[in-house]
Amino acid sequence: MMRCSDEALVLRRTPFRETSLLLHCFTRQGGLLAAVARGVRATGRSAVLLDRAALAGFHTVVIGRSARSAQGLSTLTSVEIMHPRHRLMHLATALLAAQVAQEILYRFMVPFEPNPNVFELLEWAWNGLDTGADPLSVMGICQGRLIRALGYGWRTDCCAGCGITARLAYFSAKRGQVVCDRCAAPYIGQTIHGHPAQAGHRLFPLGNHLHGVLQHLEWTEDFDRLPRTDKAVLYRIGQACLVQLGKAPLLSDPPFRQMLGLHPVDSLLPA
Ligand SMILES: [Zn+2]
Repeated sequence: MMRCSDEALVLRRTPFRETSLLLHCFTRQGGLLAAVARGVRATGRSAVLLDRAALAGFHTVVIGRSARSAQGLSTLTSVEIMHPRHRLMHLATALLAAQVAQEILYRFMVPFEPNPNVFELLEWAWNGLDTGADPLSVMGICQGRLIRALGYGWRTDCCAGCGITARLAYFSAKRGQVVCDRCAAPYIGQTIHGHPAQAGHRLFPLGNHLHGVLQHLEWTEDFDRLPRTDKAVLYRIGQACLVQLGKAPLLSDPPFRQMLGLHPVDSLLPA
């Protein structure tokens, strides 16, 4: 029997047997794993000492767990709130944003594979959402950072077509890289069999500000001052890259977009 203690973010809870909960956790040192919180749904004499409130919501908790093997189903032995976040679960748009972040983890992370960078990113996103920060901004930055932290490309230094480092005017979701205006030209404003030619290449215009934003993915004052349309483009770039990587759209994206009043599908800008 192995025992350990670790920081954890509880992603999902489902009733398990008569009185228990099955928790899907993302732990700092153990990655994604499942743990059973025995007896937490019981009442009266059979109730256990595990704090059920600590398992609800979006707190960073410290859990103790035991398991027969490194990748076996864990049993929760203790739980304590380390960093509370009480507001997020009462903010409808923030909740939908948290769903998007969670789906990215489930889709792109392998169970039991730790990734402290991704752990800290999720905490960063939950902190922002919990303090009432704009969910579109949080997710725009969070997605880009997640794509990089998960080891997928997100190159912003040179053109995917010719390699030059100037006149970088578009971002290609297909390549996960910026494209210069000359290399993009053949795909902009043309139609193939009546459809916009850039559709297959998912080229996003970067305007004056977005190239810098894509490079640093930092929440600066300049970022804060960006028009909402630019923040929406940053979010759409992240989603388009994730679709490209995962070969399917995220289920949590349409409800989030709808709540924000964004277009239900990517409307590509005319050249
Ligand atoms: Zn080029």
